[in-house]
Amino acid sequence: MASLGIPQNTIAVLQKHNFHIQKKYGQNFLIDTHVLEKIISSSGVTKEDFVLEIGPGIGTMTQYLCEAAREVVAVEIDRKLIPVLAETLADYKNVTVLNEDILKVDIARLAAEHNNGRPVKVVANLPYYITTPIIMGLFERHAPVDSITVMVQKEVADRMQVGPGTKDYGALSLAVQYYATPALIANVPPNCFLPRPKVGSAVIRLTRHERAPVQVADEALMFALIRASFRQRRKTLVNGLCNAPELHLTKEIVLESLAELGVAPAVRGETLTLTQFAEFSNIIGRKQRSQTPE
Ligand code: SAM
Repeated sequence: MASLGIPQNTIAVLQKHNFHIQKKYGQNFLIDTHVLEKIISSSGVTKEDFVLEIGPGIGTMTQYLCEAAREVVAVEIDRKLIPVLAETLADYKNVTVLNEDILKVDIARLAAEHNNGRPVKVVANLPYYITTPIIMGLFERHAPVDSITVMVQKEVADRMQVGPGTKDYGALSLAVQYYATPALIANVPPNCFLPRPKVGSAVIRLTRHERAPVQVADEALMFALIRASFRQRRKTLVNGLCNAPELHLTKEIVLESLAELGVAPAVRGETLTLTQFAEFSNIIGRKQRSQTPE
């Protein structure tokens, strides 16, 4: 039975190991069993599943995952937590702890070694200082992942879900929605963690699309256009794109492409939908190719 997830037991483990919380690693440990149960049930993990946990900390959620899943690999960067995890997870035979940086882990290899190459489920209370690189890394590197159920800052969960015309809409919204369907599971207040974070949190589940919702000839070009469009929010799309040296776009190409897309030349990036960004990148790509000498 999972023993962690209540304040007294977490404090006892930290004291026993004389463990000092590392702010630089975004360590906020969960101390609420209801929240833990909600994460596990909403993740849809069953005894058939292989789960990748990012940042197990002292092993609180890991205990719950070991009970729900067939097998768990937990990747923890802080080497001082490894002896703690060896003790808190001693009763579980279906878990492997890797002392590594998740941004450097080859997830395709983990899936091959532990799950016959099938997509894995990711479940985590993420370290907030690298939420976006972790999520984007899982998607952009085309890691074999079928769902990601994670605790993130409330504000980041909002950004993942919104559409055009809202202040939170941006590159993260478009990327998440291109790869997955986001669903908000629960809002979580600071008192569910030790130490308490300064911001509110939320659990969000991202279910990977089987097929992308839009057809894009060149994903890298679309995301480069999206990033450049939101870099200078106050500028029109034309100015934002022409000021992005990495794109090498002339004003003529951008204006012609916007006309072909059927939107006004003074449009701002934050009003375009994912479908429009996809079509826009297809038009720009075609024009660039037709101008490149054979
Ligand atoms: N899962 C635990 C819980 O819910 O109580 C701890 C969550 S805590 C918010 C984030 C964890 O991620 C910490 O244990 C931290 O050391 C770890 N971490 C931070 N950066 C990491 C990285 N780059 N790779 C792997 N783990 C990391």
